[in-house]
Amino acid sequence: MEQTDFSGRAAQLDAQLAELDLTDRLALAARLGNAVFTTSLGIEDQVITAAIGLARLPINVSTLETGRLFAETVALIAETEERFDLSIKRYVPEQDDIDAYAAQYGLNGFYESVEARHACCHVRKLKPLAKALEGAQIWITGLRRGQSGNRATTPFAEYDADRNLLKINPLADWSFGQINAYVEREAVPVNPLHARGYPSIGCEPCTRAIKPGEPERAGRWWWENDEKRECGLHVHEAASAIPQPA
Ligand code: SF4
Repeated sequence: MEQTDFSGRAAQLDAQLAELDLTDRLALAARLGNAVFTTSLGIEDQVITAAIGLARLPINVSTLETGRLFAETVALIAETEERFDLSIKRYVPEQDDIDAYAAQYGLNGFYESVEARHACCHVRKLKPLAKALEGAQIWITGLRRGQSGNRATTPFAEYDADRNLLKINPLADWSFGQINAYVEREAVPVNPLHARGYPSIGCEPCTRAIKPGEPERAGRWWWENDEKRECGLHVHEAASAIPQPA
């Protein structure tokens, strides 16, 4: 399929998806082609996994097991598989890449500079993500407009030119209240860290609890000043600018 086909379809699909409920949005995504959902096991992603599992939708569920996740997050992978009777495929970084990163920056070198942090995310997240999306035509994510200013304009469907696929964000318009209501109604298992002040959960050394009134993603890479902090998974410019590990 040509690039113009994807980008032309994104605008049409965006309007179509807006009219549907979550399950129908996911079902439509699954009909479009080989669909992969990448979950971080955060509360939004747990809602999507639940909807996929409850409706038995033909969508591959994958996660990036970076090697630096909280123990609570790792435990939640198996708990979620059991609850919804599905398999979550784990993608791990290459040991050679980890060794090369540690030799150049130190294992926790990400605290020292944005460049070192992006290099770590590249090795532990972006390269495994590329593997998870191999052969995919549809990439489903749990992005929500209310998560941060940087995500405030998240569409339901967008063409990802870097990866040549359609990205579907079925929770784009959901509020945090809707997420919580769904979790309660469907008895969705969630990360216990959410109740301890972690609305957004990434790798353990790069995530802290937030204070009351702080934005949802304020606890991610909190030592950096850039208000648009992301790991590069959902920021095309950052992804292409990320330095290669030595
Ligand atoms: S979030 Fe932190 S530990 Fe995880 S990949 Fe990025 S820099 Fe590395």
